Amino acid sequence: MNLILFGPPGAGKGTQAKRLEDRHGLKQLSTGDMLRAMVASGSQLGQEAKRIMDQGLLMPDQLVIEMIADRIGQSDCAKGFILDGFPRTVKQAEGLDAMLASRGLKLSAVIELKVDEAALLARIHSRIAQGQARGDDTPEALQKRLKVYREQTLPVLPYYEKTGLLRSVDGMAPIDNVSQAIEAILSQVKG
Ligand code: ADP
Repeated sequence: MNLILFGPPGAGKGTQAKRLEDRHGLKQLSTGDMLRAMVASGSQLGQEAKRIMDQGLLMPDQLVIEMIADRIGQSDCAKGFILDGFPRTVKQAEGLDAMLASRGLKLSAVIELKVDEAALLARIHSRIAQGQARGDDTPEALQKRLKVYREQTLPVLPYYEKTGLLRSVDGMAPIDNVSQAIEAILSQVKG
């Protein structure tokens, strides 16, 4: 089963992806985590990535498409994968399609976590208050990330709506209820 978890920053994609890993043996592929690992390596590219991410801007499409292409081919993705934070632009969605087609792979579903923006801001502010904030969790960067999400990432939804792959769940529900709603969807889709 190959899934996309789709939703704005702070929607809970990471939490649900972890549960799907445990329950279904799928591999979570988070471009945000991969990019943070790149930053932590201290390389030239990592330093450039940090500047872009701390501003709440997106990394170049080609770079993240290649990162994902590289990971999907590895053996821990044999049972399937969960894309978390990717694709974030229509270009990335097109790149993903081309790459999957060339490998004879298919997406099983695109699961959208629907949340409202005021709640997202509250969640991230509590992340800051609890000392769990990242470098890009400043109020300015967050506003920018939400703006980028609206302008560049939301257009990905109609892209998948057309293919019939899109399913939506209420991301404002308690974590267990969100998981149940996702499980109900998965029981209907074929691997
Ligand atoms: P969040 O979901 O909280 O915004 P992520 O960990 O998914 O956080 O992403 C953090 C940052 O990493 C993004 O703001 C962006 O700069 C970069 N990034 C992550 N995924 C992508 C992607 N698919 N394309 C471009 N940039 C990305």
